[in-house]
Amino acid sequence: MNIYDTSVQVIVFWLGAAIGSFLNVVVYRVPAGLSVMWPPSRCPKCFHQLGMGENIPILGWLLLRGKCRHCHTPIAPRYPIVETITAIIFVLIYNHFGLTIQTLGYFLLMCWLFALTLIDLDTMTLPNPLTQSGLVLGLVFQIVVGYLDNNHSIIGLRESLIQGILAMVLGIWLYDTIAIVGSMMMGRSAQGGGDAKLLAMIGAWSNWKVILLTAGVAAVLAIVGFVVVAGYSTFKSGGIKAGANKLIQPLPFGPSIACGATIALFGGDWLIGSYQEFMRSDARYLVGVPLLIALTGLWWWVRRLRLRSSRSIGS
Ligand SMILES: [Zn+2]
Repeated sequence: MNIYDTSVQVIVFWLGAAIGSFLNVVVYRVPAGLSVMWPPSRCPKCFHQLGMGENIPILGWLLLRGKCRHCHTPIAPRYPIVETITAIIFVLIYNHFGLTIQTLGYFLLMCWLFALTLIDLDTMTLPNPLTQSGLVLGLVFQIVVGYLDNNHSIIGLRESLIQGILAMVLGIWLYDTIAIVGSMMMGRSAQGGGDAKLLAMIGAWSNWKVILLTAGVAAVLAIVGFVVVAGYSTFKSGGIKAGANKLIQPLPFGPSIACGATIALFGGDWLIGSYQEFMRSDARYLVGVPLLIALTGLWWWVRRLRLRSSRSIGS
């Protein structure tokens, strides 16, 4: 690695950190219906406006040792963590695509996905202004990439745009199907119109293969997340009852979809290759059969808990 590569990576890292800092503002203000441009960043307690030094991503928080300089109110470590994650994502995308239009596009997509993930974790909603603007940006991305990657041809542009629109429609349709099947299996009504819009937004940026893979990976991640959260609350509060309580509460699905899309976009080929190799090996029975039994058991247990809870609410 030469000096040039290293210095570009450093620049990309700090660009990512600065944008991560802005994402913190977006995640806090958009669900509250506040402007993301005004007022400038300030302490939520004493309203002291952040100076130049305090506004530097990651370092500002470290210099202040996680406290407001004036009133010493602790500032959550979440802010520098979000900045660092955004910076790392930016460097990874740059290393993968180099100085191309794809890099710029995927910077934007990952910002949207990351902000929506955090908002969904915080508020269990996916705000329309974000999913809709992300969808429009995705179609613009298809037009630009289709035009540039096909020797500046209008036909390339058109095909790329159609690919995005088809994947967008497939996203909505697929989510509705999952939601209907899910509600039949879990014995409760499907929820979260925002999730379908998120899947449509991802479709606008990609193609039908990525959407199918995203939905599949998201479903697996949601099941894993579900088991981890229920297991953790059982362990933390020391009772099966708390764990069961967590199981019957809805969990946000947006983070699983966003992670699924990231994996499908950047690791899709590898994932499909590994899956095909796995299905050719003898290990498929060794892993597949117990997994199927475990999943059926889990589904049966959750369904029973939910039916019981809905009955006790109804009566
Ligand atoms: Zn303060």
